[in-house]
Amino acid sequence: MKIAIIGSGMAGLTCAARLSNAGFAPTVFDKGRGLGGRMATRRAEGGFQFDHGAQMIPCEDAAFRSLLEQAKASGHVAQWDMGDGNANAVGTPGMTALAKYLAQDLDLHQQTEITSVTQTDAGWELTADQPLGTYDRVICTAPAPQTDRLVGHALTEPLDQVSYAPSLTLMVALNRPLDAPITQTNPTDALAWIALDSAKPGRPSRHCWVAQSSADWSATHLERSKDEIATLMLDLFLTHHGLDATEVAYATAHRWRYALVKEPLGQAFVASTDGTVYAGGDWCLGPHIEHAWQSGTAIAEDILRCA
Ligand SMILES: Cc1cc2nc3c(=O)[nH]c(=O)nc-3n(C[C@H](O)[C@H](O)[C@H](O)COP(=O)(O)OP(=O)(O)OC[C@H]3O[C@@H](n4cnc5c(N)ncnc54)[C@H](O)[C@@H]3O)c2cc1C
Repeated sequence: MKIAIIGSGMAGLTCAARLSNAGFAPTVFDKGRGLGGRMATRRAEGGFQFDHGAQMIPCEDAAFRSLLEQAKASGHVAQWDMGDGNANAVGTPGMTALAKYLAQDLDLHQQTEITSVTQTDAGWELTADQPLGTYDRVICTAPAPQTDRLVGHALTEPLDQVSYAPSLTLMVALNRPLDAPITQTNPTDALAWIALDSAKPGRPSRHCWVAQSSADWSATHLERSKDEIATLMLDLFLTHHGLDATEVAYATAHRWRYALVKEPLGQAFVASTDGTVYAGGDWCLGPHIEHAWQSGTAIAEDILRCA
C-alpha cells in the first residue's frame, strides 16, 4: 500500500513512525525547511538559538509519557527546570529534537508544498510544483484551514468549526545576563509568555529569550510585517525589563497564524467514506503537542486495523 503523509509535524511523524514500525513505507511531504512544524527551533548567525513555536511538552497520556521516556533515554528529550518549582519535558538541544527522534529512517521530503490532491482511477495523485505520484492512502496533518483546502472535498466532516488563536513570537538575544525569572506567564497585557530559552537543557550558553504575545495583541497586529512586529515586541520586552536597545545582540519575530487550537474538532481524526483519505493533527483534540501525537497515533491504528 502506497501511503503519503502531508506534514512532518508531531501528528504526521507520529503516524509515519507507527506505520513504518508496522512494515509500511510511508512518504512524508512538508513545505517547511525543517522537521517538526510548530515544534520549531530557529538557529541564527552568531550562535543564537530559539524555540520560537512550542515551548515545552506537557503530558497527561501514559502512552505519550512512555514515548517521552524513550526519547529521553536516547538524549532527544530532557527535563527543563523552569525555576518556579515546575519542570516540563523539552526537546534537546532544541524542540525539533523530538521530531528528529520520530523521523529516523523515514522517507522525508521537506520543502515540498502539496498544492493539490486529486482522485484518479489509480488512487490519489499528489502535486507540488510537479506531480509526485499516486497513492492508495493520503493523510493530511496540515492545520485545519489548510487541510480543508487540500482534502476537505473528500472528508465526511466539515472542518470549519475548528478555530485557532494566532501568536506572534519575539526572539531576542542580549549582550549580558538579565536578572529576571526563567519564565514569566502573562507579565504584561500584551505579552503572554517570556522565557530564557538558553536555560533549557543542552542549549548553547547565550542569553537568548523568547516572548509570545497575548491572543488579543496577536490578533490586532497579525497582518503587520515581521520587521514591524519585531520592533513593537522588542520595545515591549525592553520596557518590561528596563533595558535599552544597546543591550540587544539580535532580534527577530515570527508570525504563527494558526498557533493554538481554541475549538478542536472533538474526535481524533476525520476520514473519507472509503477510508482512503485521513486528516488529523492537534486541531482534532486540543492545543498541545500531545493532542497531535494522539491524533497521528489514532490515524495509524485505523489504517492498520483496516489494512
Ligand atoms: C507559539 C506557539 C507556542 C506553543 N506552545 C506549546 C507548548 O508549549 N506546548 C505544547 O504542547 N504545544 C504548544 N504549541 C502547540 C504545538 O506546537 C502544536 O499543538 C503541535 O506542534 C501541532 O502539531 P501538528 O503536527 O498537529 O501540526 P504542525 O506542527 O502545524 O504540522 C503541520 C505541518 O504541515 C505542513 N504543511 C502545511 N500545509 C502543507 C502543504 N500544503 N504541503 C506540505 N506541508 C504542509 C506544515 O509545514 C507543518 O510542518 C504551541 C504552538 C505555537 C505556535
